[in-house]
Amino acid sequence: MKIFNKGFNFRQDGPGNRLVYHLQGCNMRCIWCSNPEGMDMCAGKDIPISVLLDECRRSKAMFFSGGGVTFTGGEATMQIDELCELLRALSEDGIHTAIETNGTSKRLSEILPYVDYLIMDFKHYDSDALRKYTGVGNKVIRENYEKNCRSGRQQHIRIPLVNGINTDNPEGFAQYFAQHDTENTVFEFLTYHEYGKEKWKTEYKVQNGFVPKETVKKFVEVFENYGLKIITT
Ligand code: SF4
Repeated sequence: MKIFNKGFNFRQDGPGNRLVYHLQGCNMRCIWCSNPEGMDMCAGKDIPISVLLDECRRSKAMFFSGGGVTFTGGEATMQIDELCELLRALSEDGIHTAIETNGTSKRLSEILPYVDYLIMDFKHYDSDALRKYTGVGNKVIRENYEKNCRSGRQQHIRIPLVNGINTDNPEGFAQYFAQHDTENTVFEFLTYHEYGKEKWKTEYKVQNGFVPKETVKKFVEVFENYGLKIITT
């Protein structure tokens, strides 16, 4: 599998202390992306699944407080066959698994039986706007969200808030989400930062992306009015 970064973090990408692998390649081109080095499928280090599995097994003592292994990106599902094989092996070994995905894979449901904790991004409720800023519309993302709501599986929806790009209409998000059964769904807002700005080799297009506190407060208020559960990590 192609990996461009790995490391441990606590409760940032799933429960407990986790070994997080950043998988190479992404089908989106978000203009605010903080890991642009992860976009190109041709880059990254190729590591055999057996080596990764062995590394995860050897790290078991580190998975305290309900931790385990998380696969993020780039976009984790770009290597879905290999990912599925590894997730299945980890599950069989009793290791807690999580993925963070942009939600655009039509094959997402194939790996979900081996995912204990699902984090899925939802960047814009308006498909044309999403396409404008990321190169991809939200049809499949919606389908995946709705499928998870119907099946009642746990899902953690992350909404990156970028000033002027998706912050004008919190109702647009909340109205859509609340049309579906969100019993097992939680929502998190991530505010824009510029950690990745220096990594961009081409022009960095976000201007004034920082989100005022009042905007976040408004999003929280609106979501709570719709009965949606908010979490922070
Ligand atoms: S989906 Fe994530 S990794 Fe892919 S371009 Fe967007 S922010 Fe970057």
